[in-house]
Amino acid sequence: MKAEDKIIRMGRFVRESPKKLIGFVSLFFILVSAVPIVDPGITSFPRMSKIVSDFTAPSLMASPPIKTILGTVKKGDTASSLLNTYIPLKIIYDLDSRSKEIFPLTRIRKGQPYKISLLEDSLVAFEYEINKNDRLVIQKGMDTYSISKSPIEYDIKEETISVDIRTSLAEAVKRSGEYSALTWKLADIFAWDIDFIRDIQFGDHFKVLAEKRFKNGKFYGYSDIKAAFFTNKGVEYKAFLHEDANGRKGYYNEKGESLKKAFLKAPLHYSRISSSFSNRRFHPILKKYRAHPGVDYAAPKNTDIKTVADGTIVRMGYNNSMGRHMMIRHLNGYETSYFHMNKYARGMKKNKKVLQGDVIGYVGKTGLATGYHLCFRLLKEGRPVDPLKQTPSSAKPILQKKMDGFIAQTMKYSEKINAAEKLAGATP
Ligand SMILES: [Zn+2]
Repeated sequence: MKAEDKIIRMGRFVRESPKKLIGFVSLFFILVSAVPIVDPGITSFPRMSKIVSDFTAPSLMASPPIKTILGTVKKGDTASSLLNTYIPLKIIYDLDSRSKEIFPLTRIRKGQPYKISLLEDSLVAFEYEINKNDRLVIQKGMDTYSISKSPIEYDIKEETISVDIRTSLAEAVKRSGEYSALTWKLADIFAWDIDFIRDIQFGDHFKVLAEKRFKNGKFYGYSDIKAAFFTNKGVEYKAFLHEDANGRKGYYNEKGESLKKAFLKAPLHYSRISSSFSNRRFHPILKKYRAHPGVDYAAPKNTDIKTVADGTIVRMGYNNSMGRHMMIRHLNGYETSYFHMNKYARGMKKNKKVLQGDVIGYVGKTGLATGYHLCFRLLKEGRPVDPLKQTPSSAKPILQKKMDGFIAQTMKYSEKINAAEKLAGATP
């Protein structure tokens, strides 16, 4: 078996959360018989609107049955048109105004599944899938409808995928039978370490422990990538998913450091910011209003200018407005520009790789400049952004007190990933 043909898959199904439906519903009917409740987990959504189930309450209570209508929002459907038959417009307007902060009812979209629960033709609950993660739940209470957002329940299958790369990440993902969403997920996870356009080469390899979502046997996308190992040019990068105390999920290496790398706060030691980022400012030399898509740092002549992040020099030159300037391309869609330099640092040339903090040049006033300063610009996907607001900062490493738990988790994930590798080794 050739190495590049090695695609390994291991998986098993797990339930995302236990279904307490039966107990929940029967307990409810024992406690409150006047106001029924719908099941807490959506089960299935056929494409067509139809009545799929009649719920019969325990006979001793003699409660009327709850009718459930499952459907998909069609072109022209609105919350009013869907619900008007079961509740007065006045109540729909009230729900609309109250639901705005959670999810405005006016934003109901074609193609999204919904569920209507009725008791004697009066609305008991309305559920709507906002996206792949959350559903809007409007539910009748004692005297008013409550509005909330809750997660959609899926069957989760955990899988290990191990693939060699021949030409590109996208090609490898496709060859492994996975979906392109996995390409984007991986590219995002390793965006600070690997340039997926320029750095990928034959023999690179990735291994992923992924969670896939299914509903009624149908694939509903990847939820979490629990861990991913990526070998690029012989170097293995590891990423482990971790959720911090605030519920923020991020990826960390095996030492517990965040994979999200920070840019330097500023490219030099400056005396003051002489002009900040704006879309419109009065230009001191041109005497007219012009956008200033950068930050001017005033500093003495020949102050060191440093690149704010690792990258490649893509442009060096001189012109009347920018003076002596340099442009550096970084990973993750960022570019930085440095204008009005007095001179470049020794050895700088186009296509040279520079590391964060390397001195690339010295402050000057070449080009259109009134005094010694560095005009620093930051572009994200080709668009100028304010470096003082949008400079990427790294996430904090995992807290010391959480490290034992994190390491135990990484070992568990690594074992699962490596089990797929062993299997690959055993394959003839
Ligand atoms: Zn400037």
